[in-house]
Amino acid sequence: MRSAQGTANGTEGLRAQNLSQILTMVHRDGPLSRAELTRRTGFNRSTVGALVLALTEKNLVRETEPVGGRVGRPSPIVRVNPGIAALAVNPDIDALTVGVVGLGGHVHARVRRETAGIPTLEEAVRLTGAMVSELQPVLGGIDRLLGVGIALPGLVNAGTGRVLVAPHLGWRDADLTGPFGTAVDLPAVAANDASLGSLAESIFGAAVGVADSVYLNGSASGIGGGIVTGRTQLVGSRGYGGELGHTLVRPGGSSCHCGRSGCLDAEVRLERLLGAAGLDGGGIEALEDVLADSPGPGIRSEAERQVELLTVALVNFVNIFDPSLIILGGFLGSLVDFAGTSLEDQVNSASLAGRVTVRRAALGPELLLVGAAELAFQPLLASPA
Ligand SMILES: [Zn+2]
Repeated sequence: MRSAQGTANGTEGLRAQNLSQILTMVHRDGPLSRAELTRRTGFNRSTVGALVLALTEKNLVRETEPVGGRVGRPSPIVRVNPGIAALAVNPDIDALTVGVVGLGGHVHARVRRETAGIPTLEEAVRLTGAMVSELQPVLGGIDRLLGVGIALPGLVNAGTGRVLVAPHLGWRDADLTGPFGTAVDLPAVAANDASLGSLAESIFGAAVGVADSVYLNGSASGIGGGIVTGRTQLVGSRGYGGELGHTLVRPGGSSCHCGRSGCLDAEVRLERLLGAAGLDGGGIEALEDVLADSPGPGIRSEAERQVELLTVALVNFVNIFDPSLIILGGFLGSLVDFAGTSLEDQVNSASLAGRVTVRRAALGPELLLVGAAELAFQPLLASPA
């Protein structure tokens, strides 16, 4: 048994650490009984009771009696208060999506607004402010807004909150967190969209408990990646690692914004699928509807072509990283459903060793918002006191 008493010197620090551990546990794993928290933390029962009480007094968690009548004194269930929330923003070349996400990954609201053209940073900031104003009826029911998290399709320095380049948006070397934070009057944090998708899936989605995974996100802007190896996210020397979209899949193919040609990002594109489906906008959800409902020959052949090129890239990733799981989010998830088991079979038969599972992201269209909110939750989760 560990006790949360600590030495006189480190008592406050230790207590803060213990509060963080309990809050993070119920945030990530869902409602847990006091008995289960006691078992998982190794603290004694009265310590867990005191920590839960402290979190309850801060309105961060709530306790309810368990349902069902068992003999003896039942252990109360501890759950997060989803009214403790963050705003999440995902700018893309065709639309801006804003969400309100509570602790526990609970999405209270998600609004997607198509833009007339590719939005400038200033336009995206202005639209975010307007969309948040429209969300007032939802925000009225929120107890506390912690901040705003921004998921951006581009190279983002999470430490400084600046975008180095978001090639399809045309945003370069600009402060992100300052303008977005000012627009909604909250502290702001920003990161690459695919990294946040990977984070969200590892906490709430398909990659919970998986030590080695490759995540690929397909948005209107293109394809980004997140690599988790030995439970650690690969970030690179400056935090820009995981640009899996610039893997060569078709030598001499379509020209890519990176200056080369035949990259995955240039060949496997949402706009090509939408075009082949005869859709003018509507994004991933419109594409899913077409693919699910007996797609015509034009969209079928384009989807088959993209699945084939995606397979080339996935085989490379399996040979390089040896993941046990590949997760595909955004429109790449739509391609997983379209291809069925043949995608996984082909990746496994063409790669050198092992057996990888290929799965679509579990969190669907809410994925990036949940990841962006998670970023905004970090300070509270680290230090609830
Ligand atoms: Zn490229």
